[in-house]
Amino acid sequence: MPGEMRPVPAELAPRSVINPTRRSPNPRPAAGVRMPGGRAEVRASSRSFRARTTARGTGAAIADQTKGRVSLMSSDHPFPGGPVQVVPSQGQVLRKPALGAAPEGQANGDCRWSAGRRAAMPSEDADLPTPDFAFDADAPGACVAGIRPYRCGSYRLEAEVASGRFVVHNYGHGGAGITLSWGCAAKVQDLVRARVAASHETEAAVLGSGVMGLTAAARLLDLGLTVTIYANLMFAKTTSYKAGGQWALSLVEHHGKDGELKDVLTTSYNTFKAGGQDFGVHERPNYTSKVSSNFEKILHIAPGLIPPRQDLPRMPFHGHHNRGFLYQTLLVEPPTFLARLVDDLNRRGVRFVQHKFANRADVFSTVTQKVIVNCTGYGAKKLWNDAAMHPIRGDLAMLRPQPDLQYLYSQNGYMFPRTDHVVIGGNFDCTDNEQPNKAECKKLVRAVAMNFGLAPRMAIPENFIQHPRISEWLRQRSLAPADTPCEPPCNPV
Ligand SMILES: Cc1cc2nc3c(=O)[nH]c(=O)nc-3n(C[C@H](O)[C@H](O)[C@H](O)COP(=O)(O)OP(=O)(O)OC[C@H]3O[C@@H](n4cnc5c(N)ncnc54)[C@H](O)[C@@H]3O)c2cc1C
Repeated sequence: MPGEMRPVPAELAPRSVINPTRRSPNPRPAAGVRMPGGRAEVRASSRSFRARTTARGTGAAIADQTKGRVSLMSSDHPFPGGPVQVVPSQGQVLRKPALGAAPEGQANGDCRWSAGRRAAMPSEDADLPTPDFAFDADAPGACVAGIRPYRCGSYRLEAEVASGRFVVHNYGHGGAGITLSWGCAAKVQDLVRARVAASHETEAAVLGSGVMGLTAAARLLDLGLTVTIYANLMFAKTTSYKAGGQWALSLVEHHGKDGELKDVLTTSYNTFKAGGQDFGVHERPNYTSKVSSNFEKILHIAPGLIPPRQDLPRMPFHGHHNRGFLYQTLLVEPPTFLARLVDDLNRRGVRFVQHKFANRADVFSTVTQKVIVNCTGYGAKKLWNDAAMHPIRGDLAMLRPQPDLQYLYSQNGYMFPRTDHVVIGGNFDCTDNEQPNKAECKKLVRAVAMNFGLAPRMAIPENFIQHPRISEWLRQRSLAPADTPCEPPCNPV
């Protein structure tokens, strides 16, 4: 028999479920040198340098205190001459940029600088804070694992009529489920709205209490429906709760769906931004050692949604000598976000029913509602006999929280400093076992610490997402026709 789940206690002050039309009450600007309204300012002890620009865009200023230089890196694309750098005259001491110094705004070129232009390389004095990589893999909760619900061809977002029920499928979002959640929920809402306008149903069932189920339930409530969520696992046990939480298009296929995806991305991004910190959402720069297809795809599909990429002559971190790239994105902290969603859903009268469905027939015999939204993530492989679904499992190392780290980082793995933990991940395999692998967690930490000169050097493992063979596989998948059979490259060659 299905069992009632107890309401989750409210962890946060009551506030309504995110409304995409509302703006964040306290948008927190990125710290450091910024270009609000197309103006960049870098303060020196004796006077200010003011870089006026009509540019739509952003720049990161990297100061070299010893040599009295600052380079202000503008967006790579809009400036015909490439990144612009400015060097103040001798003797002027520049303030070190604040944490996560990351420019905002939009640049379109035509920069004028009071201090003139000259190429300059930033020094390590301008480095952003170095993480503490202390990690005890044996500590409770230090190493977790989850399964990315990867669907070859595309995530599934469509309706069908089966056994007299209107079923909307919303699963298969790979490593981008948090990212796409609000946008997919809006599409689910559209499909159900059209259905109930004709059928006059007043109830809906949602299968799954991960991010897809919870956001879809919120949007169904907005239609005035009575909503029941059926799930095997409560939200805090789902893959969604374990996710790193970066807003990026990672490890998800979307063949032939660029039009739909543009809407999905736009709605998601705007809704998360409007939710703000109460929903565990922070604006963050991500420093990457390589051009990131996860962001380039967003820039291509939804131009203008996030600021353009910036090219940096050097990653601004201790021990780094390589060039890098900077993308502005969001960090969504799943534990905060999901708890907040569940709290809101409880207050709005959603009923949670704990039940593990054995198969599709079990769904139709257990669920009484005529409208069913299937958000079962990787569970859909078995439940809906979906052979396109593949498990792409990943481990995450959870280090102690370090509030001075206000940036995301990607090189030989990724690091997302959150309020609860500094999360380090980026490996994968193709098992559907959610047991954490402590040796893998240690390897993840070592790989990132190595970049900072704080761990012995090692070659990037073949089961890391940033290994070139994986990038190449993903590239080929993006070029292949939608129906090309796919097998994730899980066995290291
Ligand atoms: C290591 C890792 C890092 C990640 N990092 C990010 C990131 O930075 N950004 C990002 O956007 N995404 C990230 N993801 C991806 C993200 O976690 C997933 O895409 C997302 O959680 C999928 O959400 P979901 O609701 O579809 O599935 P889930 O969260 O898995 O929820 C599925 C729900 O369906 C229920 N269910 C399944 N089968 C049944 C059944 N037979 N009967 C009853 N209930 C059932 C489950 O109990 C659960 O409640 C990451 C994933 C992993 C593993």
